[in-house]
Amino acid sequence: MRRIRKFGEEILRKKSSPVDNIDGKIHELIKSMKETLLYVKGVGLSAPQVGVLKRIFIFYDKEKEILGTIINPEIVEEISSYVDLEGCLSFPEIYFTIERPKITVIKGLNEDGKEIIIEGKELLSRCFQHEIDHLNGILIIDYAGEEEKRYYQDKIDKLIKNSKK
Ligand SMILES: [Zn+2]
Repeated sequence: MRRIRKFGEEILRKKSSPVDNIDGKIHELIKSMKETLLYVKGVGLSAPQVGVLKRIFIFYDKEKEILGTIINPEIVEEISSYVDLEGCLSFPEIYFTIERPKITVIKGLNEDGKEIIIEGKELLSRCFQHEIDHLNGILIIDYAGEEEKRYYQDKIDKLIKNSKK
């Protein structure tokens, strides 16, 4: 299990580096990320959220009931768009309205270093976009309107305050 970093912690704003060697340490990291995601019952989790600035994320595909891993992900295609509320494990109890592509196709490496291409629809598309944002230091609050930010101001202030402890 790993501690999930919360909004206000500086690491979430840093850009992650590509993985050039999928070694035992990376496998260990992925294993602990999976355990953490299962425990919190989330949809996706990126390495920077557990304190490691590497371009890795994991996701739970509800339809196929599998936990997937993608290393060095890149967006290949984006189709159409839709708007929905979006949460983040680094922003507990906060949801912002965000427009995302309806379909996102990504490519990257799996845990064995094999190149894979995955298509995500709706929630999974949103997850892919969200997690790749994390690898670039972009967070859901960056998409939020002023009104929504004001609505959650107390929760946001509390997160920032806790991060300074
Ligand atoms: Zn997130």
